[in-house]
Amino acid sequence: MSDREKPLLDSPLIVALDYGSAEEALRLARQLDPGMVRLKVGKELFTAAGPSIVLALQDLGFEIFLDLKFHDIPNTVGRAVAAAAELGVWMVNVHASGGSRMMSAARDALSSFTKRPYLIAVTVLTSMQRDDLAELGWDAEPIDRVRELAALAEKVGLDGVVCSAAEAALLSQHQRPGFLLVTPGIRQAGDDAGDQRRVFTPSGAMEAGATHLVVGRSITQSHNPATTATQIVESLSINASR
Ligand code: C5P
Repeated sequence: MSDREKPLLDSPLIVALDYGSAEEALRLARQLDPGMVRLKVGKELFTAAGPSIVLALQDLGFEIFLDLKFHDIPNTVGRAVAAAAELGVWMVNVHASGGSRMMSAARDALSSFTKRPYLIAVTVLTSMQRDDLAELGWDAEPIDRVRELAALAEKVGLDGVVCSAAEAALLSQHQRPGFLLVTPGIRQAGDDAGDQRRVFTPSGAMEAGATHLVVGRSITQSHNPATTATQIVESLSINASR
């Protein structure tokens, strides 16, 4: 979409602030450089701390990905993404499985904002396996469903999708150039994978086709979050210049 202003920051790194209080989130954010990373505010932090945490993080200079994964009737989702745009966030998301009318309502609700947020879709949650889809009446491999839903999101005019690095490898071959592929499940070599089933290194995910990386615990639980963030960004520019 051409009406989105080009962001000032070209770093692909988004740090997930998965915290239960504003204090913890701000303590971490103050250690990071808004010229190097963006921040993701998800359901836990937003539910605990409300819109004021988004404004406080923006006051520190950060661009915010508001990761609330809206899924509701079209009118409600349209109004919710407009409320996110009023807050001034950089990126917001919806569930593609809400369908094209719901995604269109979200797109249309943002069209009047001069500095509108990027609007991306969640396709299939990476926690879902074939059995989980079958239970919902979808007899398909998750990756096939991901492709269908990503294609639908693109057709409706969304800016991109959230996807794993493995999915990014496939989607980057099928989606239009510039379609955003925002990828969690990132670990630096030697990190604990935690509850993520399949992890990629930052440069591995970018090589697979990701345009943005969502990194949580590798940074938030590191002894020195600022240094870890810098190392990740530097590892990307080193690999990119090869
Ligand atoms: O700590 P970690 O790097 O695993 O955090 C990843 C972040 O990305 C979390 O905020 C998590 O909710 C989010 N996420 C994910 N997998 C998805 C979608 C979002 O891990 N498929």
